[in-house]
Amino acid sequence: MGLLDIAPAGVVSGKDVYKVFDYAREHKFAIPAFNITTSSVANSALEAARDAKSPLILQLSQGGAAFFAGKSLPNDNQQASIAGAVAAAHYIRSIAKQYGVPVILHSDHCAKKLLPWFDGMLAADEEYFKQTGEPLFSSHMLDLSEEPKEENIEICRKYLERMAKIGVWLEMEIGITGGEEDGVNNEHVHNSALYTQPEDIWDIYKSFSEITPNFSIAAGFGNVHGVYKPGNVSLRPELLREHQDYVRKQVNSDKENPVFLVFHGGSGSEKSEISEAVKNGVVKMNVDTDTQYAYLEGIRDFVLNKKDYLMSQVGNPEGKDKPNKKFYDPRVWLREGEKTMVKRCVVAFNDLNSSNKL
Ligand SMILES: [Zn+2]
Repeated sequence: MGLLDIAPAGVVSGKDVYKVFDYAREHKFAIPAFNITTSSVANSALEAARDAKSPLILQLSQGGAAFFAGKSLPNDNQQASIAGAVAAAHYIRSIAKQYGVPVILHSDHCAKKLLPWFDGMLAADEEYFKQTGEPLFSSHMLDLSEEPKEENIEICRKYLERMAKIGVWLEMEIGITGGEEDGVNNEHVHNSALYTQPEDIWDIYKSFSEITPNFSIAAGFGNVHGVYKPGNVSLRPELLREHQDYVRKQVNSDKENPVFLVFHGGSGSEKSEISEAVKNGVVKMNVDTDTQYAYLEGIRDFVLNKKDYLMSQVGNPEGKDKPNKKFYDPRVWLREGEKTMVKRCVVAFNDLNSSNKL
């Protein structure tokens, strides 16, 4: 039985999100989540998922959402991030079915100071739910990992109660992801803060399970955003086993991995680290830095190789009257970036074992 036997193609919500993650857990794979900044980037990820026959997670960061709406817009009250996230969600909803794969539509890290962004997206979910019976987004992330644990859990619970009513999944973070992403700099956080304890996972699991089973936890196990030279912090996916074992004992679960876990900072990870994380219940892995680079590669190589065709609208090495339209048309050079991004996405599907699961 393939995934399409239990969940539809296109953007999924409510029980279908649970089914997709549960299927990934049972079949020991994780679904890559790619960050979206433009329709071209979204299309590339969708094309790759179709080619790999894999489910897909598309996500917008607060900065990426603002960029989707337009970099020039004021964003002092998160209005551009809200408008961009909503616009991207409507765009993705309107085309995702064409690609024939289940798509989880998600928003990335939201720290305490960005909660107005979250509030705007959740209001859009509730509005869309009134009209259609399902939320606009499949899932949102709250990242209150910089706050004390009790406050983190309390704020998440408050939102989760609202989200559960309209079938929106919650991803939360405990422990800190190192490195730098989207203006959040955790490069100087002490190493011990990068490793979550099993007791913390249990506190969250126990509290959220009273409300809904539709949540996942991004636990710190030495993850770092971005790709750096090997340093002091090492990735320890074996720690995730302890979380699962601890929770399983508490609830007497017959599931090997009762907790849905999320892997942040997947770019630059070793294949062995990825497969150990997946074995230990990771069902979602974020890939951003590597696909950013991949998208550039095709465009970079095109511009470098065709430089003499790009310096003026008319005139190239084949003749001073030759037109260059077929070189500077954005459909030509953007497409080169899309092609190299598609290739990198397919590598992610294969690394996470999510290919050929439809
Ligand atoms: Zn992250």
